[in-house]
Amino acid sequence: MRFLCLLLSFAMIFRPCGTERKKRVALTFDDGPHAVYTAQILQILYEYGVTATFFVVGYNAERYPELLRAQFDLGHEIGNHTYSHTVSGKSSLEKIEEEIKTTDRVISSVTGAVPTLFRPPEGKAGRELLDFVRRLGKTAVIWDVDTRDWAHTPPEKIAENVKQNVHDGSVILMHDFVAAPSPTPEALKLIIPYLIDAGYEFVTVSELLAEEAETGSRPSYFLG
Ligand SMILES: [Zn+2]
Repeated sequence: MRFLCLLLSFAMIFRPCGTERKKRVALTFDDGPHAVYTAQILQILYEYGVTATFFVVGYNAERYPELLRAQFDLGHEIGNHTYSHTVSGKSSLEKIEEEIKTTDRVISSVTGAVPTLFRPPEGKAGRELLDFVRRLGKTAVIWDVDTRDWAHTPPEKIAENVKQNVHDGSVILMHDFVAAPSPTPEALKLIIPYLIDAGYEFVTVSELLAEEAETGSRPSYFLG
């Protein structure tokens, strides 16, 4: 009996390999779809078997519905990033609210699903906008690691930034819509193998959100 008890205690303390939860990270791509870079990024994600979250701009989604459909069909999450990248504080609240609703319609007409995530352009959102987003049943999310790919940061520098700042539960900000030449595809080819070697698994933002509901801890990149 005592032996059994010892055995059980041992098993509880030293869980077998493979039952430990892996570190998690969410790659996010904003502002697309883009005629060139979205397909390149989807191909890289596919080769590594990585799932990500795309915060699409309604105007671009309307122009490239086949790319939006590809994102969705490949298992990536789609979030709302307004219709014309309208920044809170620079446009009226009414205009942004209308843009969010319009973008929901554009996305759901292609994917059949209304997004449950919203990312405010430039990460800016006041109290009223956050309240509106919540009433629509959405969670507003920004990021904790900014790759600055939009500023044409060299791929090696982007990768170094991620290595220095990533941690369990990080949301990494990247863009599939960047003015040419975009450093993002090359940076991804450095970042993904590094994160795999470092023991991370790639999840969508909603999967991180589900974990928040389980643990009760709310990372600061979830707004509101
Ligand atoms: Zn953006």
